[in-house]
Amino acid sequence: MAIYLNLKNGYDKNLLKEASNYIKEGKLVLFPTETVYGIGADGLNEIAVRNIFVAKNRAADNPLILHVSSMDMIKRIVEDINPLERTLINSFFPGPLTLILKRKNIVPNVVTANLDTVGVRMPENQIARDLIELSDTPIAAPSANISGRPSGTNIEDIFEELKDKVDYIIDGGDTKIGLESTVVRVINDEIHILRPGKITYDELRKYGKVVVSNHILKEVEKNDVVLSPGMKYKHYAPNSKCVLIYSDDKTKMINKMKELEDENTLVITNDNNVKEFKNATGYGKTLEEISHNIFRILRSVDKQNKKLIIIEGVKTSGLGLAIMNRLIRACSHNYIEL
Ligand code: AMP
Ligand code: MG
Repeated sequence: MAIYLNLKNGYDKNLLKEASNYIKEGKLVLFPTETVYGIGADGLNEIAVRNIFVAKNRAADNPLILHVSSMDMIKRIVEDINPLERTLINSFFPGPLTLILKRKNIVPNVVTANLDTVGVRMPENQIARDLIELSDTPIAAPSANISGRPSGTNIEDIFEELKDKVDYIIDGGDTKIGLESTVVRVINDEIHILRPGKITYDELRKYGKVVVSNHILKEVEKNDVVLSPGMKYKHYAPNSKCVLIYSDDKTKMINKMKELEDENTLVITNDNNVKEFKNATGYGKTLEEISHNIFRILRSVDKQNKKLIIIEGVKTSGLGLAIMNRLIRACSHNYIEL
């Protein structure tokens, strides 16, 4: 059973010394970031990183993101940063953006799944940054969940799932954003979005041409080349069967959802529409609220043991693209667009 550190009611950097010693010793530390919780280990310690894969039951070909606390730490792990990459670093670090960069050999193959690139992010969350700084090493940290399950956005949701898989748990309360980082890679001076997140297309567009990977809303076929291996895998899924419904025409959308509803279904919908259904949970009103709540709600539906979960989709602009990417995958591409 892991050591538990509660930082929900007050925080002092010194309290993280013990956790940083755990990282230095190659142990696994569950910690908060502004996106979701991460299962962290010393990203330059091959055995420690292997243990993350074991704890999560994560496919070995799905690389991990290295979390850093300074520009110096970035230079320790990546080769030549080009001008556009540097601009993105200056504009978005620290924050919810992961940049895929050319890696140095110091980064173990197990982190990058043998790719010649490495994902790098500098979290904005103070606990995360202080933990990395005190550990004095980049921390490899995938989302805190057993692979395939929704990512953890608070400790209560993931405690049972992970308490025996990690050595140390830092509870920093609810994560601010609730969705994982936007993952981008610069290719031929264009910014490719490999995974959408809080940093949107429009924000990136200010810095150059932006290309949205076509696997974000579509299922990966057997022979497709994927720039981000994680896109191949089932993720965010509750145990119950789910269907996602969306139309720009709200009446049409609600009618379709009503058509599928019966005594044995649960509807997850905008707070404004809850009253339309027999058995519904509201996921918030704005895209920010939906991001913040969605993983907690996807985890909670399993307790209700419903035959079908009917989820209302959102428009794929702005933060909506990231929300729809997660919802489509939570529904295993069982998506009806009207
Ligand atoms: P997670 O840490 O669970 O949020 O997942 C990290 C995501 O970043 C996965 O979708 C990975 O496939 C992706 N990723 C990490 N490193 C790389 C890389 N070097 N190249 C492309 N995608 C990466
Ligand atoms: Mg994940």
